[in-house]
Amino acid sequence: MIDALTHLDFPSFDRDRAGIVARARASGVTGWVIAGTDPAAWARTLAVARETGGFPALGVHPWWAPRVDLDTAIADLEARRPQAIGEIGLDRLKPGWERQQKAFRAQLAVARGLNCPVILHVVRAWADVRAILRRDGLPAAGGMVHGWTGPPAAVPEAEALGLMVSFGRGLLRPGRSLESSPRVSLDRLLVETDGEPAGLVAVVRALAVRRGVEVGEIERVTAANALRLFACRG
Ligand SMILES: [Zn+2]
Repeated sequence: MIDALTHLDFPSFDRDRAGIVARARASGVTGWVIAGTDPAAWARTLAVARETGGFPALGVHPWWAPRVDLDTAIADLEARRPQAIGEIGLDRLKPGWERQQKAFRAQLAVARGLNCPVILHVVRAWADVRAILRRDGLPAAGGMVHGWTGPPAAVPEAEALGLMVSFGRGLLRPGRSLESSPRVSLDRLLVETDGEPAGLVAVVRALAVRRGVEVGEIERVTAANALRLFACRG
């Protein structure tokens, strides 16, 4: 299994990172994406990815966007030529809407230039993200919406734009994630914990039950999709 979104670089994991990696491997999780959030921590994101065997992404998360010097961050991002860009996106529940949009569009442009996949954080902002992607365009390498909480009817729109759709612990309770999960095509389905990778077992199980398929099929398909998305480099 591959965990399509974690933040194992966060200092809160410093105390037990080796234990987290050991538990992940013991649970059958063989890979994890570590998504950046804050330019000040990008070096740490890369170091933890190297140390744990994770796949790094660098980005200015919409929660950080209002506090970051965007020009400096974009220059830094271009210089680092990351393998993936994220988390980037829009969050209606957080402040700094104008700056969130600026940061999102500028980073999308870098991703198109590098042709690397993007990891999108979208909260109550699907229509806004959709409009920007339609106007500006996604990199040919594609991307994923992490922790999908959009309406089920928006799943085909995301797929038509070229996105994969990732589900996390939202599947463990009733709600939009659970309702949306059967609508995603098998070749666009991803799973994530946004936390400890060993927790992926419960997410995969919930997804298999909801879709009425074997756990092994979800494991295989989501791992293959993650490898395809993140190996892609033009
Ligand atoms: Zn996020």
